[in-house]
Amino acid sequence: MIPVIALVGRPNVGKSTLFNQLTRSRDALVADFPGLTRDRKYGEARLGDQPYVVIDTGGISGDEEGIDHEMAGQSQAAIEEADAVLFLVDAREGLNAADDSLARYLRQRNKPFHLVVNKIDGINEDVATSDFYSLGVSSMFSIAASHGRGVRQMIEEVLVEF
Ligand code: GDP
Ligand code: MG
Repeated sequence: MIPVIALVGRPNVGKSTLFNQLTRSRDALVADFPGLTRDRKYGEARLGDQPYVVIDTGGISGDEEGIDHEMAGQSQAAIEEADAVLFLVDAREGLNAADDSLARYLRQRNKPFHLVVNKIDGINEDVATSDFYSLGVSSMFSIAASHGRGVRQMIEEVLVEF
């Protein structure tokens, strides 16, 4: 069985950056424009001899209409397809109402998920992560996707269960 890992979170948290780190492809559009990657995108990745599939998504913002609604649908479909979900949040922006609603959604779906606090480069990691404890998530990682920091350790722990 090849595990499928979905990357979800509101726009601009760094999902496509992490996707590219994991798949080492430049295919996903990484942009400073929130929500540019509008469709689900699949990539092949490998940890040692363990292959896995990563799904990049456009992001759930919590308040969806039009294109945003479409993107939320893509994220929901990715969550259904996934064996595990990496739920990304932005360490620099702190906890957001959209993060709360996505956490609630994931609990409802009964999907195993891990909270990933991204963009911890150059800031205090303990302060940054403590903001997210109120989400009540048991599994939390802190990374800097654009620097690759913490990424390998995170994926090793996520894949242990498969
Ligand atoms: P997405 O909308 O969730 O796919 O987010 P992107 O991957 O497109 O990233 C949004 C912005 O955050 C881009 O400008 C990235 O360069 C930046 N970014 C992503 N990861 C990091 C990180 O670890 N640290 C910092 N400082 N910026 C990051
Ligand atoms: Mg993206």
